[in-house]
Amino acid sequence: MLLLPGCGTSFVDTLAAERSPTTAPPPQPDGDCATRAEPDPDRPVVDLDLRLDDDRRTVTGTQSVVFTPDLPTDELVFRLVPNGPGPAAAGNRLVVDAVRGDDVVGSGYEDAGAEDPGGLFVVRLADELAAGEATEVALDLTLTLGEDGFERVGAAAGVSWWASGAPLLAWEPGVGWARDPFVDLPGETATSPVADTTIRVSAPEALTVLMTGDQADPAPPVDGRRTWTSVEPVARDVSVAVGEFDTTTATSPGGVEVTAGVLPGAEVSAPELAEWTLEAIEELEGRFGPFPYATLTVPLLPDEGGGIEYPSSILLAGADRLVLLHEVAHMWFYGMVGNSQFRDPWLDEAFASYAESVASPVDAGEVAEALARPGEVGAAMDGFDTAAGYFGRVYRKGGAALLTARETAGAAGFDAALRCYVDANAWTIATPDDVAAALTHLPAALDVLTDAGALDEEDLPR
Ligand SMILES: [Zn+2]
Repeated sequence: MLLLPGCGTSFVDTLAAERSPTTAPPPQPDGDCATRAEPDPDRPVVDLDLRLDDDRRTVTGTQSVVFTPDLPTDELVFRLVPNGPGPAAAGNRLVVDAVRGDDVVGSGYEDAGAEDPGGLFVVRLADELAAGEATEVALDLTLTLGEDGFERVGAAAGVSWWASGAPLLAWEPGVGWARDPFVDLPGETATSPVADTTIRVSAPEALTVLMTGDQADPAPPVDGRRTWTSVEPVARDVSVAVGEFDTTTATSPGGVEVTAGVLPGAEVSAPELAEWTLEAIEELEGRFGPFPYATLTVPLLPDEGGGIEYPSSILLAGADRLVLLHEVAHMWFYGMVGNSQFRDPWLDEAFASYAESVASPVDAGEVAEALARPGEVGAAMDGFDTAAGYFGRVYRKGGAALLTARETAGAAGFDAALRCYVDANAWTIATPDDVAAALTHLPAALDVLTDAGALDEEDLPR
């Protein structure tokens, strides 16, 4: 996510009018990173069937999950993001009404530092699943949308939205369940694997849906409602916005279908927002390689505030090009190369902040100042006392460390190494060790990241 300027999260106040095209030479990946890794064929299969009530403030439905663990387990743990301190304070609430499944023997909430009824929902299984053994569960849910504002879930006149609105399967392959506590900071704390995802949303017929995944045109209305469907084979999470959107669809030279949507009276038109998005995709592809998804939807919400990234969808609050660029960068760093957003928040936020430099010259003085801030870039989300401290260290110092590492090690080699990192770790949950491994041959870059506390000695290749 990114908050609008005022929080000092960015090195550039706004994108310069004289935007120059990306002129860096194409990276030349070497070693085993010439091709992008494929997603795990045994990844979860998630099916969401949701209905936005006529009151436009209540979502009901069912999430079914086929889960095949890579380690033995006798439970499934879901993260209930709307019950976290920030979303709950805005009146949002997610309740699991019922659980079904042949292997299910019980279920219950765990607090995890969230609000009533809890931040985690645990489904207990009759027997331990072996690695590679699948189970299927279905969760009936009710999601209450809170007030207007810059949150992941909310409703305002003419628009309702919910991102991380369904119970999120909190599995980290190779590690196990992520039961990390919620923190009262404006940042993410979730960990989730990519899943083969299908979404159906029934909504009042006057409204248009913009969500994660490749959307099909809705069938004609029945009883005043239309049902919208989408598929995203590699979604870690899902965002849905439903509103009186005017939309424009445009396709990038690489074939990415972008759909932008704006509400009546918006400060920017849908075609303009789509054009901004296409430019951001092109600039970022020049540095990081092909855009990860087939589609990208960008609904512009009524509030000012910033942006929040979701797989192949962005909730944009305020028509700010730099924020949009930052969120598009998250499609590589978070969407494709996943991370524990609690344990290693710098792996998505420092990289997305660093990626802003593809479109704007950086201010060397600001970079040096940010890099001199005290504290470790690589701290976990419970390592920050204030939002300002979190943004200052993870976004600013972390982004500065990556910019400095590139400058020190040489742009061509650093860019090639990061492309290798991206391609080798596609569709996984990466760790700082993976960053260190990609930079093994660039000791100057490793030194910069170690000095900044992004990497520690244990991460370094031996
Ligand atoms: Zn971000």
